[in-house]
Amino acid sequence: QTDNKGLELSYNFTKDAPEWVIGDASRIRQVITNLVGNAIKFTEEGGVRITVKTDTKDDTKRILFRIEDSGIGIPENRLNSIFQKFTQADESTTRRFGGTGLGLSICKHLTEMMGGNIGVESVIGAGSTFWFNLPLEACEAPEKPKADGHISDAALTDTETANIRILAVDDNPVNLMFLRKLLQKLGIGAVQLANGGEEALEYVSAQSYDLVFMDCQMPDMDGFQTTAAIRALESGDTHIPIVALTANALKGDREKCLDAGMDDYTTKPVKPETINSLIRKWVSKDDAGEPTSSDESSTETTTQTTTEENAAEELAVDMEHLALFTDGDPEEEKMLFDLFTEQADMCIEGLREALDDGDEDDWKSTAHRLKGAAANLGANTLAAHCLTAETQYEDNDAAKEAIIRTSQPRLMQSKIS
Ligand code: ADP
Repeated sequence: QTDNKGLELSYNFTKDAPEWVIGDASRIRQVITNLVGNAIKFTEEGGVRITVKTDTKDDTKRILFRIEDSGIGIPENRLNSIFQKFTQADESTTRRFGGTGLGLSICKHLTEMMGGNIGVESVIGAGSTFWFNLPLEACEAPEKPKADGHISDAALTDTETANIRILAVDDNPVNLMFLRKLLQKLGIGAVQLANGGEEALEYVSAQSYDLVFMDCQMPDMDGFQTTAAIRALESGDTHIPIVALTANALKGDREKCLDAGMDDYTTKPVKPETINSLIRKWVSKDDAGEPTSSDESSTETTTQTTTEENAAEELAVDMEHLALFTDGDPEEEKMLFDLFTEQADMCIEGLREALDDGDEDDWKSTAHRLKGAAANLGANTLAAHCLTAETQYEDNDAAKEAIIRTSQPRLMQSKIS
């Protein structure tokens, strides 16, 4: 982000600041990411400087974090209110910069939960300095974590599995249905589905879950915002493991998920063995213990890009993949297929409209949606086409026509039955 604008990002860790402290790395990371993100967002020229030092103003020894920018600044009369929910410094901000007005209220909540304070100083047109301090005790450098991080690899008994409560969040009903089938097949007792971020928040506030599977791209509140909001709701010693479901195995996805406060991620379409090992990894028998960041290779090995496999797959529907969800039960197959058809019909209609209106964004998001649904079903050729449509069909109306023609799910239905 800084590169595009030519901003300079600099760090200053003063010598008096301890190298290692005891604290909640994921929450501190979340606050810093938020403040630095804002600083970059609201700065056109100059740079952003991050300083970490021992705070001498306070009696208790605290560590002070400062994020200084040379951006647009904040009007004096708004300096206090911007830490409240859904507040932006002025009305035109949303139009110019987007955003939800939630970030700073979450930062305030997290900082205070960790026993710290947060504040801002700003001069209109000259820049803003956001700061927060935390009571963090210095410590020795930790021993290198064991290769397997936190993983509780012990097999769960059937009863333990049946007691697990999982919340699955996705705006795509087909994806949700597949995930539910899969979780039920794995013996998970309680599976709650939420079709968006707001619904997820309601469920999380109302009861506890052992694990959340969170789609990343969702309209209104995306998976990153929802995660940040869930983390803000949590009190000091609770931490629901949240596993991101990402559509693209893009480099940097992992970082983005961790920055948002998620614990792990896997790519869609979900695979039974991956979901199973993620459950074993993040749901411990006794439900105890804060999860620590995990070994990169542990899920990296199980996550996969679908495109290569898909391109090689010639069948309309990979029945073996579908059977992973249905055990080959024809009625279940039909139910999933009908659900898929219904959604695919809607997507194709949406693609048609996007093509007619020349709306490139709509085209991409609809192709993305259809891709997800198709990949779940095991309609791999269609999924591969959708990926191409999503990423390569800009200004290519003829190719768009072709995908609308060849995506008719009814054609595939004749092959399946
Ligand atoms: P969002 O950025 O999603 O709107 P935040 O809660 O993070 O929500 O920020 C609230 C408002 O505070 C922003 O909309 C913006 O008006 C103002 N703001 C935050 N950080 C900065 C900054 N570094 N410089 C100028 N304005 C800022």
